[in-house]
Amino acid sequence: MPVNSEKIRSIFPVLHQKVNGKPLIYLDNAATTQKPKSVLDALTDYYKHDNSNIHRGAHTLADRATRYYEKTRTVLKEFLNAKEEEEIIFTKGTTESINLVAATYGRKFITKGDEILISTMEHHSNIVPWQMLCEEKEAILKIIPINDSGEILMDDFDSLLNEKTKLVSIVHVSNALGTINPVREIIKKAHHFGAKVLLDGAQSTSHLDVNVQELDCDFLAFSAHKLYGPTGLGVLYGKRKILESMPPYQGGGEMIKEVTFAKTTYNDIPFKFEAGTPNIADVIAFQKALEFINELGKSKIKTHEDNLLSYATSLLGEIKGFIPVGTAKEKVSVLSFNINGMHPFDVGMMLDANGIAVRTGHHCTQPLMQRFGIEGTVRASFSVYNTESEIDYLASAVAKIAKIKNK
Ligand code: PMP
Repeated sequence: MPVNSEKIRSIFPVLHQKVNGKPLIYLDNAATTQKPKSVLDALTDYYKHDNSNIHRGAHTLADRATRYYEKTRTVLKEFLNAKEEEEIIFTKGTTESINLVAATYGRKFITKGDEILISTMEHHSNIVPWQMLCEEKEAILKIIPINDSGEILMDDFDSLLNEKTKLVSIVHVSNALGTINPVREIIKKAHHFGAKVLLDGAQSTSHLDVNVQELDCDFLAFSAHKLYGPTGLGVLYGKRKILESMPPYQGGGEMIKEVTFAKTTYNDIPFKFEAGTPNIADVIAFQKALEFINELGKSKIKTHEDNLLSYATSLLGEIKGFIPVGTAKEKVSVLSFNINGMHPFDVGMMLDANGIAVRTGHHCTQPLMQRFGIEGTVRASFSVYNTESEIDYLASAVAKIAKIKNK
């Protein structure tokens, strides 16, 4: 049975509003997804009934909050097929997860002359932390190039890999192009040279089945807000052995076993990396978002999104002046494009006037835009609650806009 988008829409309150006098068509899901009512209710329920600090309280509320918080870790372990729940660390988001690895694993294990590989299509959050680390350590950051469709050039990857490669940090799915990278092959090849692999899963975890044991990635970073969950919450998965070998990220409460002025001993994983009072309410509410995904099933969600992508690609492809950006064979439901003779920002503003929410600009991937010789794109990204009729509406709005410069 295909997904029933109309029914799904009914549990997303934010979708039922007018923007600029028109029904909202929300096509900015790669930036952040909307939240089902169950997530919103979980947030208020927590503050109404359970609010308490976790892990150290000896009272009923603290015990309840701790159990709910830790339950999300268990659900995530299943969601990713991690071996153990201690391998799941809560962070602020993908950005913090990557920074955590750079600041701990990177500072300890990357030394002068070592090489780190990333690709041309990385988000700034998977570029800048490595630039900072390389500057500090006198290590070398190397870039895997891509072709004109937005696919990694695997031959070039092969020739960049060598014994000096200590880490490959790569986006699983590109936020700007939608490309699904061949990460299984990348991981296998990197491991052959003894390099560790971090996957930026910000865009993959919402669309694909990401099985960390099967992929054999060493780290996986992602954000709850792109998976129908709250903002300000992220996950870092890491293999136990590697996490245990890493120094703590921040110092403070929770991350210690014992503190004296002479010496402090650190807590075990995952708590070693969760200093201070964490984002308790959002972690608890995230469970509801994961339940929403699990109940629908990833493959059903993906089929629906894939159908929307191919429908949109062919419909918009007929428009005179339409220039797709990112035409990889393997893609998720991201349609990046430009309109001949028009600035993406202007196109975005005109779509907004029609109630259509898209992203415009460089999508935090400036080097990728430089590779394509463009300033930015218009990006429509589809989710499980989007419908074909919304795409019809998008296509007719884009066609009208494109006509201004493409008669
Ligand atoms: N990587 C990719 C591929 C992304 O799409 C994003 C979010 N746009 C990030 C990293 C950063 O995620 P966050 O801002 O939630 O930390």
